[in-house]
Amino acid sequence: MPFIDGKTMLDHAFQNGYGVGAFSAHNAETVVAILEAAHEEKAPIMIQVGQKVIQTLGMEALKGLIDTYEKDYNVPVAIHLDHSRQFEQTMQAVQMGFQSVMFDGSGLSFEENTTTTKKVVDIARALGIGSEGEIGKIGGTEDDITVDEKDALITSTEEAVSFVEATDVDYLAVSIGTAHGIYKQTPNLRFDRLKEIVDAVKRPVVLHGGSDVPDAQVQRAISLGIAKINVDTELRQAFTRGVQEAFAENRDDIVLASTLGRGRERMKEKVQEKIRVFGSQNKAEELLTNKKVITIS
Ligand SMILES: [Zn+2]
Repeated sequence: MPFIDGKTMLDHAFQNGYGVGAFSAHNAETVVAILEAAHEEKAPIMIQVGQKVIQTLGMEALKGLIDTYEKDYNVPVAIHLDHSRQFEQTMQAVQMGFQSVMFDGSGLSFEENTTTTKKVVDIARALGIGSEGEIGKIGGTEDDITVDEKDALITSTEEAVSFVEATDVDYLAVSIGTAHGIYKQTPNLRFDRLKEIVDAVKRPVVLHGGSDVPDAQVQRAISLGIAKINVDTELRQAFTRGVQEAFAENRDDIVLASTLGRGRERMKEKVQEKIRVFGSQNKAEELLTNKKVITIS
């Protein structure tokens, strides 16, 4: 199956009222878990390459793994660079053939954020690659960067509009009450603000910190225009619990194929569960036949 660019994928989700899961991969087992789940659910998916795995395995190595395994599965996939905070790194991903990139300038001034995001958008667009930008600070800890709750501000409609006008980014990450990592208390998404933002920017919006948000809230957010939901923490939990389960049965099991395999199995189940919550099951064919597909190898 050819890869498909992030914009084509998310525009289809946005126009048809479902959400695409953007699942973070960390090694070969997690790549396979995500692909198997997507294949069984016939769902379009994004596989995210995050900053942590870039520091450890490297961007090119993980990209290579995804490219290799993806050939075996008949589902539309976009490889996405998550939370890049350097223009140079974002360009490396573009050069490597990612189908979607996020430059996260939310820690910069509005001016610096828009200037760099605009450069990324222009270059990515010229090459048929989808782009994500972020406006407003999302709370919690991601890749060693922690945003205190007091700094995690709900994105204003005004700043979202100014950001989109200045950058014309394909999809927009906003802060509407979610956080990265594990929640101390159940989040309450700001649906009023989300609706206002979507009505104003008229393009797909991205929900970061999608783990552990109650399903009903995620589904309501999707109905209002969230088209990409990032999930990482819950998948790592599922994988780790699977491995722990295997060791609990036999703590001397040193066959990694079986212990890590249990992790892969549990993570696959979790990805399938998320795909169903997001309503993207059985959307693969519709996406491929109804839209002009731009492939990037
Ligand atoms: Zn994020």
